[in-house]
Amino acid sequence: MADTSLNPYLRAQQAFKEAVDTLGVEPAAYEILKQPLRSFEVAVPFVRDDGSVQVFTGYRVQHNDALGPTKGGLRFHSDVNMDEVKALAMWMSVKCALLNLPYGGGKGGIACDVDQLSEREIERLSREYIRAVSLVIGPDKDIPAPDVSTNPQIMAWMVDEYSRIRGENTFGLITGKPLVIGGSAGRVAATGRGLVFATRQLATELGIDFSKSRIAVQGFGNVGSVAAEISHQLGATVVAVSDKDGGLYNPAGINIQDLLEYKRVNRNLQGYPHAEPIDNKELLELPVDILFPAALENQITSDNAHNIQARIVGEGANGPTTPEADRILFDKGVMVVPDVLGNSGGVTVSYFEWVQNQTRFYWSEEEINQRLESYMSRAMADMHTMHERFGVTLRKSAYLVATERIAQAMRIRGWLR
Ligand code: NAD
Repeated sequence: MADTSLNPYLRAQQAFKEAVDTLGVEPAAYEILKQPLRSFEVAVPFVRDDGSVQVFTGYRVQHNDALGPTKGGLRFHSDVNMDEVKALAMWMSVKCALLNLPYGGGKGGIACDVDQLSEREIERLSREYIRAVSLVIGPDKDIPAPDVSTNPQIMAWMVDEYSRIRGENTFGLITGKPLVIGGSAGRVAATGRGLVFATRQLATELGIDFSKSRIAVQGFGNVGSVAAEISHQLGATVVAVSDKDGGLYNPAGINIQDLLEYKRVNRNLQGYPHAEPIDNKELLELPVDILFPAALENQITSDNAHNIQARIVGEGANGPTTPEADRILFDKGVMVVPDVLGNSGGVTVSYFEWVQNQTRFYWSEEEINQRLESYMSRAMADMHTMHERFGVTLRKSAYLVATERIAQAMRIRGWLR
């Protein structure tokens, strides 16, 4: 039977409803959390290279700021729409609260196809977007960051535009910036590194020695390649990796350093001589201890969840496991590091970047990595406490930790009376 696929916004609402009911907190908490506090839709006119003016639609959503200013990425993609941005903002509220960051969730973006735009056009569009939302964002209000099809260069143009409007350098406006203008050491590798931290901790709790584990990684981009590389450095045997064109398998293990060099030279994984080709479906079902889905959403579904042999699924991607597959894995005893924890290394180091910008005091990469590990460990422990208290999946436990924290802030601020 096919999975029930729900609108992501309705799915996010449902998750908050379950958490509020399970915790037994005031029903008003759900009434507030079920929609964003503020949603902005803006027209973004910009000049094309041929001199014509085109207008795109931009969005910025601030879900809940009880714990602090809102925080979340900016996505440039033709599918961006208000419901998606709202759902992503709600999901950021969960991540920030779970990691105990002093932030609420936000998200934004522009509905556009960046492949149709020149670099100069992307710059003008990015600057116009900032002009359009400049009144509602700010280092103590709402702090954007990169997401799909946005990058440190775009963040640099945006922080420059905002600084011009304000008449002062305001590096704390945005995170994911280049190092030279207040970016943080360790930011690029943070998501993959955090995924390995969280998964290794869960493995240890389950009596699995991470350094002796066998690992398969779906997706060899920013998140997957870093997770594979760090796992390899920690002594684990990475037996399979894949990208959108297919995968590689070597039961004796793949030398990830060597593969990264091969990819750098050849631009893709295909043809690597020290492993056999494997398709993405086979990769997910290999006999491994740990599976890292780090590519796309909806990869583990009711069709293949029964065949997953890994003991731990560490979610690097957003939403790689459908709700139905989640239930199947839970019944099979497969533990899932949920995406809200698994890929939260990025927002955690973004928080460190903002702290460094606000204090003008910069930390070494070693300090960043140590702090990241301690934040992830604490979130994991908090999630476990809820898991033991309510006997629910780690994903539901993550929502319980986050909802309890946000509700507590709303209660003490007098919002729930
Ligand atoms: P990326 O574009 O750098 O890499 C994605 C990888 O997935 C590429 O190697 C691509 O070839 C591969 N891929 C695409 N389709 C595939 C398929 N069908 N099968 C196998 N591999 C496939 O992206 P990323 O930044 O690594 O992000 C990956 C996931 O992690 C996304 O879901 C993203 O939302 C999530 N995420 C990323 C970050 C971050 O800091 N980069 C933070 C939070 C969440």
